[in-house]
Amino acid sequence: MDFDYATPFNCLLFDLDDTLYSPAIGIGRACRNNIEEFLASKCGISAEEASSLRAELFQSHGSSLAGLVAQGYDVHPDEYHSYVHGRLPYDLIEPDATLRELLLSVPQRKILFTNSDRRHATRVLQRLGIEDCFQRIICFETMNPHLFEDATRCSKSPVILKPSAAAMEMAVRLAGVAPRRTLFLDDSERNIDAGKALDLRTALVGKRVKTQAVDYLLGSIAELKQMIPEIWKKQDGTTTTRSELELESMRPTTPIGA
Ligand SMILES: [Mg+2]
Repeated sequence: MDFDYATPFNCLLFDLDDTLYSPAIGIGRACRNNIEEFLASKCGISAEEASSLRAELFQSHGSSLAGLVAQGYDVHPDEYHSYVHGRLPYDLIEPDATLRELLLSVPQRKILFTNSDRRHATRVLQRLGIEDCFQRIICFETMNPHLFEDATRCSKSPVILKPSAAAMEMAVRLAGVAPRRTLFLDDSERNIDAGKALDLRTALVGKRVKTQAVDYLLGSIAELKQMIPEIWKKQDGTTTTRSELELESMRPTTPIGA
C-alpha cells in the first residue's frame, strides 16, 4: 500500500495479551494456573512439578502446547485451548475507550498478531471493545492449519508460534509490507528479538529496560502517541487529523482474512 504520509510505517503488527491490556489485571496469572492444572492432569505430575515444567516448556518451545506436542504428548490444540483459555475470568477485562480511540486514530493498516487461539483473541477484543479496529487477525489457527487437517497427525506436527522464524516470516508475508516499514509491538523480549532479526521496527510494551533489538520502549500501549508520534507524521511535517482519517476509512480496504 502506498502511503501518503512521511511516517516510516505502512503497517502495525500488534500482539494481544499483556500488550493491549495490562498484565496487572490477572488474565496471565489465571492462564498460567490453568496451564499448570492441564499439565498436572495430562502428564500426571504434582502441582510443584507442573509449575517448573510450564516454565521449562515455555523457555524451550515458546509455549506449553508446543513443548507438549514436541515431546510426543497426544494433545489436540482445541483440547488445550478450551482448558487453558476457556475458563479464564474474561470479565476482568474492561472496555477501553481510550485504547479504541487510539487505535482508530492510527492511519496505517493494523494487524493483530497473537499466539492465542481465535476464540480467545475474539473474546479479549470484544471485552476491550476493539474487535473492529484490526484489518486482519493472525492467530494460532492461522499459523498452524496443519494441526487441524488431520487429528491423528497432530502429535507429530510441530506447533508454529512466535518467536519462531516461521511464525515471524508468515506475519511479514501476510502483512505484505517491507519489514523496515512495519512496526511490531509486543511485550515479550524474545518476540521482539525475533522481529528485529527479520528487520522489523520494534516496540517493546510494558517493560522498563530497552535491549538492543528494541527501537521504542513503551511503559504501556497508552504511550503510543507520546513515544512514537511519527506513526501520524505527514509529508508536510504535521500530524494527521481525525477528520482526514475518517475520509481515509471510507476508502475500500483489504478484506479481513484468517
Ligand atoms: Mg503478549
